[in-house]
Amino acid sequence: MKYIDEFNDPELARKLLEDIRATVTRPWALMEVCGGQTHSIIRHGIDQLLPDEVELIHGPGCPVCVTPLEVIDKALAIAARPGVIFCSFGDMLRVPGTDRDLFRVRSEGGDVRVVYSPMDALELARRHPDREVVFFGIGFETTAPANAMAVHQARRLGLANFSLLVSHVRVPPAIEAVMTAPTCRVQGFLAAGHVCSVMGTAEYPDLAERHRVPLVVTGFEPLDILEGIRRAVRQLERGEHRVENAYARAVQEDGNPAARRMIEEVFEVTDRSWRGIGRIPDSGWRLTEAFRAHDAEHRFDVTGIRTEEPAVCRSGEVLQGLIKPTECPAFGTSCTPRTPLGATMVSSEGACAAYYLYRRMDTTTRKEMSPVG
Ligand code: SF4
Repeated sequence: MKYIDEFNDPELARKLLEDIRATVTRPWALMEVCGGQTHSIIRHGIDQLLPDEVELIHGPGCPVCVTPLEVIDKALAIAARPGVIFCSFGDMLRVPGTDRDLFRVRSEGGDVRVVYSPMDALELARRHPDREVVFFGIGFETTAPANAMAVHQARRLGLANFSLLVSHVRVPPAIEAVMTAPTCRVQGFLAAGHVCSVMGTAEYPDLAERHRVPLVVTGFEPLDILEGIRRAVRQLERGEHRVENAYARAVQEDGNPAARRMIEEVFEVTDRSWRGIGRIPDSGWRLTEAFRAHDAEHRFDVTGIRTEEPAVCRSGEVLQGLIKPTECPAFGTSCTPRTPLGATMVSSEGACAAYYLYRRMDTTTRKEMSPVG
């Protein structure tokens, strides 16, 4: 497939690996920000092919995983109400709340529907004017433009029965939080290419300069990731800390200006809690006052929800890169994709699910493997 196959070429992967091996002289720890990158790394065994000096730490960039339990519980409470059609992307349905998930709400009679776009939810609102249609608007900068567009359209079309339960998060404040944590070991970042394709790279030079870390904008195919690692290691070995774009086929310096304008019109920056991590200043978006009528949290009374994380789950440490999933005692025993105890085992981008799916049961063993392909 065009733009996929040529980024899986085993021969080119070997050359990039040789280049990394020839460049590295001492240990370096890099964090890949995005859960999609984590899955690609584990799926293709990229971390096992790297020289021992290069460690990949899995970052908090899985939107499903970092959506706070309190927001999940709010979603469950709204979805259970009579007259509500609750719409969500499919991977949120199995994320455990305090005592149930959206599948359970649906089995108990709630009208919970999987949609493929917030515009599908908007269409439901148009077809069912007597019902309240709520879309679960989670995610990073990548999903924010479409969610902003849906709210914008709802106002334009006068669809007062459409609202958004918003839990949007932003990557740069999360990088700031990682770098200022006392336990931080990260020396360089593979920044999430799809986020930068929307937002551009303007937010990153300041981060790179203040924390003296290379930030390499990186894609998702095996060669993209190896190229991102190669550039980050080269900067570290040279004592440099710059923003580099290794995903130029998708990312321009100013991102997607039309998408950014839509975000800026509909959302404003706010503090957000990240599941397992805690509150990060300015790390999210909420609807502006002008669009507050379409905010599900204002429309439905969902205050006073008390949440309780399963005591055994260590997803917060996984999301901060402090432990690998296999270091959690529940991994593969009481916690599996069929019986997930935490969001990092549910989500298709979660690190625990990636380790389980690709049978990475023991990360201490480095095997001799063929490069990708
Ligand atoms: S394996 Fe399960 S219980 Fe352990 S950190 Fe991951 S999601 Fe939580």
